[in-house]
Amino acid sequence: MKLHMQILIALGLGIKRNGHIFLGLIAGIILGIAMHAYNATHEPTAIYNVLYAVLNFIGQAFIRLIQMVIIPLVFSAIVIGISSIGDNKQLGAFGIKMVVYYSIISIAAVIIGLTLAWAIHPGNGVQSFISQESAVETQQIVSQAIADQKGHFSQLLINLIPANPMEALSKGEMIPIIIFIMVFAIALAKVGEINRPVVSFFESIFAATMKVTDGIMYLAAPGIFALTATAISSFGISVFSSISKYFLAIFIGFAIQLFVVYPIIMKVFSKVPVRLFFAAIAEAMMVGFGTASSSATLPLVIACCEKRGISHKVCSFVLPLGVTLNFDATAMFQVIAVLFLTQAYGISVEPLQILQIAVLAIVASSTCAGIPGGGIITIALVLNGLGLTPTQMVEGFAFLFAVDRIVDMFRTMLNITSDAVVTAVIADNENELNYDMLTSEESYKDII
Ligand code: ASP
Repeated sequence: MKLHMQILIALGLGIKRNGHIFLGLIAGIILGIAMHAYNATHEPTAIYNVLYAVLNFIGQAFIRLIQMVIIPLVFSAIVIGISSIGDNKQLGAFGIKMVVYYSIISIAAVIIGLTLAWAIHPGNGVQSFISQESAVETQQIVSQAIADQKGHFSQLLINLIPANPMEALSKGEMIPIIIFIMVFAIALAKVGEINRPVVSFFESIFAATMKVTDGIMYLAAPGIFALTATAISSFGISVFSSISKYFLAIFIGFAIQLFVVYPIIMKVFSKVPVRLFFAAIAEAMMVGFGTASSSATLPLVIACCEKRGISHKVCSFVLPLGVTLNFDATAMFQVIAVLFLTQAYGISVEPLQILQIAVLAIVASSTCAGIPGGGIITIALVLNGLGLTPTQMVEGFAFLFAVDRIVDMFRTMLNITSDAVVTAVIADNENELNYDMLTSEESYKDII
């Protein structure tokens, strides 16, 4: 059987196991389309407004509950991960493999994105559509985002080092937080036995946050239902037809990444069975899709990977870092979106600028936050210096913003899948993957 069919079947099995979440997802899509259609032809009635407010409340409550556990989870996972790895050699091996695999995946993503944007020309002839569609309010929001990022590249990097870790923690700035935790955890690993009380403290925190996550996951089906319905209701599907080539390029790119690149990485660098592994992380993929937030999906990715055989050591080190720094699907989307805008405005792009777009997309995507819309905000960095006028930039950016949610749901699903794939490959390489657990039916019960 062809590999993509096997993967689809594996995902189908994962979905069947968690039929309630899948049902929530589908029902959310249908309700969202119906609400959008209603809204387009009627003045919103009181019932409509109440329905929207209730859905919004449920969706936001679900996502905030998960966000609530992210910082203690990331903090404790990295401290345990690094201190349990202990010796410098193994830590170095994990680190180098992470950088190598994530780089291969991201470079593949931008090359695929560039090729598709060049072959499909998604932006040709859509300039007038972009101008009419961009609402004035959105333009104001995005012009601020562009202004914030323009020309401050070195400042952006400097800001990643937290002058005050407590401030970074309170603001939830993930990269500065991770830099602080890593420095702290490496030092902790080096001080020897004296670190025991602190490590035990974080072990308890980790166990407790995973327990809280188990509880929150009971709300996954209504949460995903509500999030999807509100997202689709403000978006609709009519926009697909007007810029179908844009969506076509993005979705073909995502499909290649999911069905070709990830399996090749698994097959070439490890003996992880592709079909089984997709089945193992299907719940996390659905939650990634529904929440459009890699950070919010982190607890569930950890649960899927650990309960299905990847050691705690590898999961607690590689996954929090991957979820914060690896956004391959976002990088692919940014490349396609930027070329879409240059094509729409008839701006020719030189070969050197293509290289610049590719490199900046990898950098910009890794500095993005794993939250809904995180990747579209950092796109301003990639748009710099391409010759778009300020008006075109704001207008184009606002347009992308308006149609972004559905793309965001798919790219988040891919972002977390690649995190899990790299984790599994490293675990295989380092003999940290228990294949009996991965293949045992018992491991597939009771995640959500
Ligand atoms: N929402 C994405 C994520 O959390 C980031 C993005 O907007 O591309 O992975």
